[in-house]
Amino acid sequence: MEELKSRSQVEEKHTWDLSDLFPSDDAFYEAVQSFRPRVADFSGRYAGKLADAATAVRAINELKSLAESLVPIGTYASLSLSADQSDAESQKLSSASSNVSAYFSSETSFVKSELLALDESVLEDIKVQAPDLSVFIDDLLRQKPYQLDPKVEKVLASYSSVFNGPYELYNKTKLLDIDFGTFEADGVDIPLSYLSFEGNLEGHENTEIRRNAFRAFSDKLREYQHTTAGTYNLQLKREKTTSDLRGFESVIDYLLHGQKVDQEMYHRQIDMIMGDLAPHMRRYAKLLKRVHGLDTMKYEDLKMPLDPQSEPEISIEDSRRYINDALAIMGDDYLGMVNRAYDERWIDFVKNKGKSTGAFCSSPYGTHPYILISWTSLMTEVFVLAHELGHAGHFYNANREQNVFDARSSMYFIEAPSTMNEMLMANHLLENSDDPKFKRWVISSIISRTYYHNCVTHLLEAAYQREVYKMVDNDENVAAGDLNTLKRRVISEFWGDDVEITEGAELTWMRQPHYYMGLYPYTYSAGLTIATSMSKRVLSEGRPAVDDWLKVLKSGGTKSPVELAQMAGVDITTDKPLKEMIDYIGELVDELEKLTEEIEG
Ligand SMILES: [Zn+2]
Repeated sequence: MEELKSRSQVEEKHTWDLSDLFPSDDAFYEAVQSFRPRVADFSGRYAGKLADAATAVRAINELKSLAESLVPIGTYASLSLSADQSDAESQKLSSASSNVSAYFSSETSFVKSELLALDESVLEDIKVQAPDLSVFIDDLLRQKPYQLDPKVEKVLASYSSVFNGPYELYNKTKLLDIDFGTFEADGVDIPLSYLSFEGNLEGHENTEIRRNAFRAFSDKLREYQHTTAGTYNLQLKREKTTSDLRGFESVIDYLLHGQKVDQEMYHRQIDMIMGDLAPHMRRYAKLLKRVHGLDTMKYEDLKMPLDPQSEPEISIEDSRRYINDALAIMGDDYLGMVNRAYDERWIDFVKNKGKSTGAFCSSPYGTHPYILISWTSLMTEVFVLAHELGHAGHFYNANREQNVFDARSSMYFIEAPSTMNEMLMANHLLENSDDPKFKRWVISSIISRTYYHNCVTHLLEAAYQREVYKMVDNDENVAAGDLNTLKRRVISEFWGDDVEITEGAELTWMRQPHYYMGLYPYTYSAGLTIATSMSKRVLSEGRPAVDDWLKVLKSGGTKSPVELAQMAGVDITTDKPLKEMIDYIGELVDELEKLTEEIEG
């Protein structure tokens, strides 16, 4: 197994090209330098003067262009850092960016405060004079009951980079301090890191390697549990304090408010999956156990592929062909974006030390999306790429149609376009093969990747997170021991007696950055619920359904999640789509059992 390269040793053609944001670090710092006086000038001219609709419209439009200028600054810094968290220059970029964005928030916080102090008729007048600001004004009005005194808002805004501290600390502990060293399996020393564990070892087909890797990984995590819990506790305190200060009834209400989602939709997602999906997934675990001839099915065996031998290796160039074929149904404009992503180096494929784990897509307003992935040359990566290109396709469309304030949809909807593309990829692969082994590989990928990832991994995070917030709402402090207990309880509840929950599984909470992003975990399965219904429509109806979907993507954040889903023909105020998705997963497991019999028989 290869030792990880440093960032300076990787092949440049497989890295992303950040020069579309800034040609150099110097250009970045120049932009930061020239941004500050513009902000000062803006507040000098407008602070204390937003008394009528015409002035307000001018101010909001200028604020819009300031916000647009800040986007490449924040993106350049955060992408540089995610390519190599250990790079001192990138750390400097990042702190320059967070300082200037705190300055911007603080200096311009008067806009919201002054607008909300105006008579509502003036706000209505703004909407008449500038209809493109309607969503901005409506969003503001939703915040009105929770708005604090202008001076307090300004102080809070100026602390924003401090408030981001827990997330930064979390990443530093995780990506810089923890050194996993090596572990031994079959008499060989194997290097261990977050990247190698999550990218390969945790699903390794060799049971000794897989289980030993898990033990070594967990043992090392455990050494950092108190620091990580302490960091997390700061995040929770910040959220609880903000929620109380602003007058929300609970932290969960506060966090859902930003998503435009009610408690019913939130709890339904978690409760139904914990209850109704679990039996199907336990059947899947039993199948894994049987196919691999394991005596006991342990927690660390769950990520193992059903049939690793049937997973083809592919090159980056091959992935482009698969993606083009699978997403052709989305139309020429969409495919044009996909091909630009490859041609113009929007994607960072390489693996190197200090790089962020997992995969993500960042879609800066005014430029183009960027994707981070750590390429393993396995077929699974076409699903990862289809997923991230789904985010890219979402904001590529929304950013062109909407203004900078309205382009981002609610978090509830964020994972719908991405998981939709995974479904299209799976269907494309299934349609083009008669080989039962390959078909089984594809279906097991849908289960073990798409549905497992979104409806099990992230959903169990969500179920655990809900318990944590219950404690927080009771003013309880959470320490590592509590988090371990809650996490273990949730995992055991889901898997029942069918999976042995090994020592170390309880530390899984330490692995996810999501807990620093509010109620993000449950939205994965929510997005996939919409995507499952939508992909069925696209496959049966073709073009009209695609057109509906493109309209949804273009709407960005101008509609609530319920309205967006409605436009796609899916009613998420009922449990029907969720029930249908769970039934569909059940059918996929049936199919896997059948194909396995066919292959073995
Ligand atoms: Zn995603």
